[in-house]
Amino acid sequence: MLDRDNDLNAWDRDHFFHPSTHMGSHARGETPRRMITGGTGCRITDAEGRESLDAFAGLYCVNVGYGRTEIAEAIAEQARQLAYYHAYVGHGTEASVTLARMIIERAPATMSRVYFGLSGSDANETNIKLIWYYNNVLGRPEKKKIISRWRGYHGSGLMTGSLTGLSLFHAQFDLPLAPVLHTEAPYYFRREDRSQTEEQFSAHCATKLEELILAEGPDTIAAFIGEPILGTGGIVPPPAGYWAAIQAVLKKYDILLVADEVVTGFGRLGTMFGSVHYGMEPDLITIAKGLTSAYAPLSGSIVSQRMWEVLVEGSDRFGPIGHGWTYSAHPVCAAAGVANLKLIDEMDLVRNAGEVGAHFRAALADALSDHAHVGEVRGDGLMAAVEFVEDRDDRRFFDPARKVGPAVSAALLEGGVIGRAMPQGDILGFAPPLCMTREDADRVVSATQEAVRKVLG
Ligand code: PLP
Repeated sequence: MLDRDNDLNAWDRDHFFHPSTHMGSHARGETPRRMITGGTGCRITDAEGRESLDAFAGLYCVNVGYGRTEIAEAIAEQARQLAYYHAYVGHGTEASVTLARMIIERAPATMSRVYFGLSGSDANETNIKLIWYYNNVLGRPEKKKIISRWRGYHGSGLMTGSLTGLSLFHAQFDLPLAPVLHTEAPYYFRREDRSQTEEQFSAHCATKLEELILAEGPDTIAAFIGEPILGTGGIVPPPAGYWAAIQAVLKKYDILLVADEVVTGFGRLGTMFGSVHYGMEPDLITIAKGLTSAYAPLSGSIVSQRMWEVLVEGSDRFGPIGHGWTYSAHPVCAAAGVANLKLIDEMDLVRNAGEVGAHFRAALADALSDHAHVGEVRGDGLMAAVEFVEDRDDRRFFDPARKVGPAVSAALLEGGVIGRAMPQGDILGFAPPLCMTREDADRVVSATQEAVRKVLG
């Protein structure tokens, strides 16, 4: 057993190219590695037998929790019956058709069709192609630029990495590509003019957006993409009035709205979709993670009826749409999706996310808001973040070289709880499985308080 473990350690260092990992220090064995071997509910175990309460649900994706045999059995049954057939030229399976219907039944009433992919990144790539196709059908070949926000996260492909507004995803990759533009992040805590109310800051964000549109020429701007609540960019809920102000500008210049609900889709904010929660009226919705709770890779682009009608006109004029992946609507993944959405209903997880989320955020704020180095405790539904600052009164941030956020998340892990150090700031993020109990929420709060005390006093 020991030998095998040692071999795996060496094989990992020698052969496995990990995503989002410091390549040199991992290969040289300077940073820890962890092999995860099992999971049940909100907890995972590793090869050394250590258990952790996973308050980030993997990468905010294991929404129903680990070890759900209902989904495992659905996957096995589908693999036995029919592991694969493609979805091109009108083909489908009972699982893929059923899942499409289940998604549309849960989505806002204006939505009409689902195109299936495998990851949040490829779903957003699909979205951009659909937007370009749409404007070509409408005879507006110049209307192609896409606006996203600084600190938005939309994936790490060529186009989606460009849409992502975080420097780590651009530098050294020659991104962002044209035609992607970025506008102000809706980050009230970090606003420049600290005299602004939330509403004034939202109006300011809308003005900045309009200025960008006018500078570029409204006839060149096709779409705006945003997560209902910023996720990887810091878990930042929109300031009051934000989406209403932004949508007024988009409507004025006939610009499509893409709601990237890869994190918020299927219950995380205590509502089935974040768009509904914040009054967004998107033309496209991106879904992934919570669609299968990551039991199998599956994503989707949900297309509104208004947009669908133009796409249909396109294929009547130009023929079948030249877009598809081998694994679009993969039957095994679709079966996982069907079982997962049923489980979300049966376990009443959307309601639980709202109720336990409110309890968790209130307890986190009670425990940490008065700490001298806590600038803000924020969140919505089952998403929360604690942002650390050197000085609260003049909102001075720590020198990034001190890596305060990673130090707190490492101390938290020592205490048996997983939170995530978010990029570009000293921010500890939480997005636990939607099945989290109040008792587990309290445990995350007390472990966080202890980790903060260890690192920051
Ligand atoms: N969009 C959002 C909002 C995300 O949070 C993510 C991943 O975290 C993505 C897109 C990309 O998804 P994937 O990593 O599956 O490509």
